[in-house]
Amino acid sequence: MTGAATIDIDTASFKGSIKLNSGLFIDGKWVDPVEPDSIEQVVTTLSIRVPNAESSPYSCTDVDLAATGQKIAAVSLGSGQDAYKTAWGLKCPGTQRARLMQRLADLMERDKEAITALEVLNTGKPFSVAKASDVGGSIQWIRYFAGWADKVQGKTIESSVTKLAHEPYGVVGQIIPWNYPLLMLAWKVGPALATGNCIVMKPSEITPLTALKFSELVAEAGFPPGVFNLITGYGTTVGHAISHHMNISKVAFTGSTLVGRKVLEASAKTNLKVVTLELGGKSPTVIFDDCNFEQTIKWATQAMYGNMGQSCIAGTRIFIQEGIYDRFMEKFTDMVKGLTAATGDPFAATTRHGPQASQIQFDRIMNYIASGKESGATLHIGGERHGTEGYFIQPTIFTDCTPDMKIVREEIFGPVAAVMKFKTEEEVIEAANATEYGLSACVFSENIGRAIRVAHAFESGSTFVNSAQLTEWSMPFGGYKVSGIGREHGEYALATYTQVKAVHVNIGLTI
Ligand code: NAD
Repeated sequence: MTGAATIDIDTASFKGSIKLNSGLFIDGKWVDPVEPDSIEQVVTTLSIRVPNAESSPYSCTDVDLAATGQKIAAVSLGSGQDAYKTAWGLKCPGTQRARLMQRLADLMERDKEAITALEVLNTGKPFSVAKASDVGGSIQWIRYFAGWADKVQGKTIESSVTKLAHEPYGVVGQIIPWNYPLLMLAWKVGPALATGNCIVMKPSEITPLTALKFSELVAEAGFPPGVFNLITGYGTTVGHAISHHMNISKVAFTGSTLVGRKVLEASAKTNLKVVTLELGGKSPTVIFDDCNFEQTIKWATQAMYGNMGQSCIAGTRIFIQEGIYDRFMEKFTDMVKGLTAATGDPFAATTRHGPQASQIQFDRIMNYIASGKESGATLHIGGERHGTEGYFIQPTIFTDCTPDMKIVREEIFGPVAAVMKFKTEEEVIEAANATEYGLSACVFSENIGRAIRVAHAFESGSTFVNSAQLTEWSMPFGGYKVSGIGREHGEYALATYTQVKAVHVNIGLTI
């Protein structure tokens, strides 16, 4: 039997017991891993009451509390040997798939508070943000793609009487990161289910809790066994197995560019599976003198520090035109001080800034802060650990940054802004594009002609005019350059989950 954990939570935002099955979810059943193993895991939340974890008879992944080291749950650790199943595909009509997906979204809505609590435990996001954006957004994504399930249509090419069918791949692998655990899952699951694929999902080893809960709801919604499978575990074992598996025809990966390259290499070495990649970023925020000052301050702060800077589209390189620079920095600094004052327990209603998601991430960011200081950038504000326990880092601003600095070139994935001053439009376009990444870019100007011109000049998959981070289920999302291959969301996502078959029909030709 697989292990089950009861997580008792008693906080300002959520009180209750959440039961989680800690096995692997394969072919509609909870099963134990083939190869027992163990791993230390971390939850970044302060105010949890009594941990109560029962381990499976096999060794499991222990999920513990970053702030205090308490263990709160046990999660199985899959390996390359855990099975895959192929099913569903063309057997279930789109209308039925849509009904199941809507039912799943209804169940997520029903359990929204508990799912949010799990996400907060696992990531340290402020509860209100996680509820609205992560869980609320995920529900919306599933509903949006449910709407597409009965609208995946082929074509007929009349001249040759050829029917084009858009068919699912069969079994797709999906590998996701820890920064938006449920949302990244929903982004991937939505289009895959709508198009009739079966899924082998691997959540990040750091944040498996909401994926476990999601699997329970998949079973409750009545999906046929094998349509959605969840294998928790490490990237080097489970992720490696998915990306090398000969029966998986497509892999959708979200994570670092480093690992994305490995997934692509694995495809080249095995069955040439289709690979779509959503990778890292180092996004510019370009602020012209003629921007709407009050609004721009808010958007730029949100773009930089939302999700504690752990966002692939975080606006981490902030270019400010010289005429507005001093005034902007003064107000921007005030905003950051406000965030610092609202840093703390993610379950508290007043918290707007939580901890980083793991010890590794905390150390990585602190190393980048040290590098910023060493390379000659001016530490304008922040730069220290916040408090004495947990993975809290003060929202940080570096000024006097130059393009050669590591903090300007590399993705930090934390609350560390690199600010630069510019004079002209031409100069800032060149500087904004001087990166190997190309995921997202923002421009702020009330001169709409200039704003649109600059938005087009950015070498990135998403550009935002006078706004930031407004990802929507219907808008294509993906990277230029090393930020990725392919697009998620909207109709574009459907194309990446179907392959086109040409059925040539002879209606009278004789030989
Ligand atoms: P990561 O690349 O370390 O891990 C991502 C996933 O890949 C995890 O599930 C991990 O276990 C797995 N993995 C690790 N090694 C593997 C291997 N050899 N083979 C197969 N899978 C393997 O990334 P992370 O630290 O979890 O997430 C942060 C990164 O994700 C950042 O670079 C961020 O920009 C990126 N990201 C991108 C988007 C996007 O949409 N473009 C969204 C969120 C995060």
